[in-house]
Amino acid sequence: MESVEKNAGHKEVEPLRDLSDAEDFFNSTVEPALMGSKCMQCEALMLGGRTACSTCLSRSIESVRLAREGVVYSCTRVHVMQSREGPVDLAYIDLADGVRTLAELRSDEAENIGRAVILDFDADGWWFRPATEGATA
Ligand SMILES: [Zn+2]
Repeated sequence: MESVEKNAGHKEVEPLRDLSDAEDFFNSTVEPALMGSKCMQCEALMLGGRTACSTCLSRSIESVRLAREGVVYSCTRVHVMQSREGPVDLAYIDLADGVRTLAELRSDEAENIGRAVILDFDADGWWFRPATEGATA
């Protein structure tokens, strides 16, 4: 019997870089938006600048602006942080186009899960706030 060399036919491949450096995660040139990537092969939407699709591995990727509006999936309060003074509310936001992101939530409401929120920003950063906040002011 012929011996088969281990891994015969195995082709060495470079690991795929997942995130690109070139794409901005946040872009406020027109109106504030988180930047994402859209796969031109399977149409999957992903957060941030990608070099390959996380669903089908296609490298045919286009940069897109993600929806500003979303709904709070879950949230928690962080009291101690190394990078800044707490407490800070962190929330998983399901954006209107289906992408889920972890972001700061600035809300005076006691209960935020299920709340409609919108992306807001200033010179220091970006966060989500209740979509109705300030609408009646
Ligand atoms: Zn894809």
